[in-house]
Amino acid sequence: MGKKYVYSFGNGKAEGNGKLKDLLGGKGANLAEMSLRGVPVPPGFTITTEMCRLYWENGQVIPEYLKEEAEAALRRVEELSGKKFGDPSNPLLVSVRSGAAISMPGMMDTILNLGLNDEVVEGLAKLTNNKRFAWDAYRRFMQMLGDVALGIEHEKFEKKLNEVKSEKGVKNDLDLDADDLAKVVEKYKELYKEEGKEFPQKPEEQLWIATEAVFASWNNKRAIKYRQINGMDKMGLLGTAVNVQMMVFGNMGDDSGTGVAFTRNPNTGENEIYGEYLLNAQGEDVVAGIRTPKDISTLEKDNKKAYDKLINTMRKLEAAFKDMQDIEFTIEKGELYFLQTRNGKRTATAAVKIAVDMVEEGLVSKDIVVTRVKPADIEKLLHPAFDKEEVEKAKYFGKGLPASPGAATGIVTFTPEHAEELKAEGKQVILLRPETSPEDIGGMDAAEGILTSTGGMTSHAAVVARGMGKTAIVGAEEIVINPQERTAKANGITVKEGDWLSIDGTEGKVYVGKVKTIKPTGLEGDIRKLLDYADEVADLGVRVNADTPKDAEIAKGFGAKGIGLCRTEHMFFGEERINKMRRMIVSKTKEQREAALKDLLPMQKDDFKGLFEAMQGYAVTIRLLDPPLHEFVPHEESAIKEVAKSVGITEEELRDIIEDLHESNPMMGHRGVRLAITYPEIAEMQVKAIMLAAIEMVKEGKTVKPEIMIPLVGKVNEFTLLKERAEKVINDLLLEHQIDVEYKIGTMIEIPRATVTADEIAEHADFFSFGTNDLTQMTLGFSRDDYGKFIGEYVENGIYESDPFQHIDRNGVGKLVKTAVDLGRGSNPRIKLGVCGEHGGDPESIEFCHLVGLDYVSCSPYRVPVARLAAAQSAVEFKRGKKVNK
Ligand code: ADP
Ligand code: MG
Ligand code: MG
Repeated sequence: MGKKYVYSFGNGKAEGNGKLKDLLGGKGANLAEMSLRGVPVPPGFTITTEMCRLYWENGQVIPEYLKEEAEAALRRVEELSGKKFGDPSNPLLVSVRSGAAISMPGMMDTILNLGLNDEVVEGLAKLTNNKRFAWDAYRRFMQMLGDVALGIEHEKFEKKLNEVKSEKGVKNDLDLDADDLAKVVEKYKELYKEEGKEFPQKPEEQLWIATEAVFASWNNKRAIKYRQINGMDKMGLLGTAVNVQMMVFGNMGDDSGTGVAFTRNPNTGENEIYGEYLLNAQGEDVVAGIRTPKDISTLEKDNKKAYDKLINTMRKLEAAFKDMQDIEFTIEKGELYFLQTRNGKRTATAAVKIAVDMVEEGLVSKDIVVTRVKPADIEKLLHPAFDKEEVEKAKYFGKGLPASPGAATGIVTFTPEHAEELKAEGKQVILLRPETSPEDIGGMDAAEGILTSTGGMTSHAAVVARGMGKTAIVGAEEIVINPQERTAKANGITVKEGDWLSIDGTEGKVYVGKVKTIKPTGLEGDIRKLLDYADEVADLGVRVNADTPKDAEIAKGFGAKGIGLCRTEHMFFGEERINKMRRMIVSKTKEQREAALKDLLPMQKDDFKGLFEAMQGYAVTIRLLDPPLHEFVPHEESAIKEVAKSVGITEEELRDIIEDLHESNPMMGHRGVRLAITYPEIAEMQVKAIMLAAIEMVKEGKTVKPEIMIPLVGKVNEFTLLKERAEKVINDLLLEHQIDVEYKIGTMIEIPRATVTADEIAEHADFFSFGTNDLTQMTLGFSRDDYGKFIGEYVENGIYESDPFQHIDRNGVGKLVKTAVDLGRGSNPRIKLGVCGEHGGDPESIEFCHLVGLDYVSCSPYRVPVARLAAAQSAVEFKRGKKVNK
């Protein structure tokens, strides 16, 4: 016997089962599974997806051996149904339905009532005692076969139908009687001829035409496009299956009907049957919207027996498939049939509720449900979004990169100072800037949302906005923002200061005017429970990048277990701080500098204490000062005047200092560990502040786990020198306070040289935290602030698969990370490894972090929930055997 290409089902038996989706398609596999489980499905058979592949490989012909195998299967359907294909005295009619492994709009539509011809229609009329029904079925079949399989346009059939209606002077299909419909059939036959075709009278021939049309539809333009867009072309799908199944009729009177139903409410997730049906209707009528369907609950009155059976069977199906089911059914003269079941689509809210309920009902395990909610959906649930209906009505202004999700609306302002003033007046503002800098922090904090015309996904505006959980769109190149004129122009529209603007940071779209927003539900109830399951399942820990106790508190609420990165520079931008910082920077002598630092010390200590308090019991990683000092000095004339006065030097002197600090390539300039090497006092002050805060915590009987992180190390000697200095400070302090505090000293790995010499560094370091923003910048040679100009075309041309600052570049940057992990663990097996770049909140990059075996990821507060879910999903998928290239 040759290979099997046809699988029968029906009458409580089946040759296939629910697991064979790749071979039988989703529809076919589930029809088999339903049949095996005793669910009433009309008998039929499935031609495999392998046959579809052969069809395409062998010059698009259906081989004779398939016809033989299928005809044998058809004979079995005849036996089970007691009817005969093409026999006018007792005809079997079938439907021909497509169905790939993954459901796919764009493939062939279903053909119903196949098997009808001039003789069979007469027989059907006699048998059902319903001439009109028979002729209506016939003309519908001719229309579907012509339209779907033979390429005769739907409109042409409609035209012929309308001719008969106007001859009779009626408007509605339902006003046509059997004789009228017979006339329609005649006209349809003419139409076939006009199109150079002959309507096939032989049922077998009809069946092969329909089967071939299904196979052919696998590679039509719509289907190919759909597979491309959804990344399905790389999944090794064979093709579509063809399901041939006995017709049952929902349009045989008021004891018949058809409908669709879900086992749970797909909008809310509520555990209740949800659905619609129509009495005396066939197939597509429910979806087509010609008649208004009735709510499923009223079926109980219309037909109690069918209703009870429907409900019981649906419960059974859900228990069998262990997920919410979306089913199609037909009732023929009181007899209920199931035509399809599949996992139902659902809203984000419903996805979370169903997942949690199913665990609590004991139906599904935690590791399965955590994979059923998309990380992006969690994000959606946590940020405000625009009211859908309002967005449709809103006036579109332009688009940019969706840098920080959420929806925000407010009046437009172009300066951070003005934003703060307006906020103080109780107004909602949207801050528009060509780009932002650390000086804009106050205004960014005051704004509801931020829009910039330049910069990429890791530009200052993007990173800070995500950190604040603030809606932001960056790199909106088509929007010309002019702070001098106080206007923004795009697509022929000019927006002025004071106008209302609405920005959607999830989609990257900007609208003119005020669009209503809807608040998120927050990390409560079901979301909280789901994420607790995620923590149980995940291997990776999730920490937060937080600079303030407030952020740390928020992040703890979102489930962060520790701080992976505190950027201490952000602590110096507060109003009273920046002056002290500037005094330190303009110091001419070590003594002056030390005096200024002394003022900063107690403030820093309080900052760190606040973080330790918020994250009690968890590790808190504090990075020593990282950015070049140039970022802390004023640049505008008015500010220079003011600052010179307040720090007690002349404007000239200040200008000289600023000039001195200027670097032509600051990202590779005097920053990070290099600052600490040349100005030891700064690092010393910070180490002291960290340890004093920790000592206070211990004295108060609280648990504290400080981790001191040295940024931008490229060579082990930089690290050892700094570590030695830090340890001296720490030992002196511990001695002075007669106390023991556990601490760690580690480094950020963000320079390519550090990754390839990680073995040397690891000998001395307690932890590595991969700073993948800088590492990406330096490995690719792409400036974070400028790559926005070309990355679009790079991705369009497939040079990079995606924005490497958004999803880690696995083959390049990833390889360096892996090298550092292996070298680092090789020389120091106890080393702790994490990621604290923006990639730490990106599900795709988190998968990579799981693969290389990091201990944790760290991300901005509002991404913590997403990261927790993504971490769990990676763990589950790889345990199940998912494979990807690292
Ligand atoms: P889709 O993939 O678009 O849902 P289906 O193959 O499920 O297409 O068919 C659409 C509808 O056609 C079904 O919901 C059902 O109402 C009707 N249908 C398909 N096959 C049969 C059949 N054998 N008997 C009665 N109705 C059918
Ligand atoms: Mg269907
Ligand atoms: Mg860095």
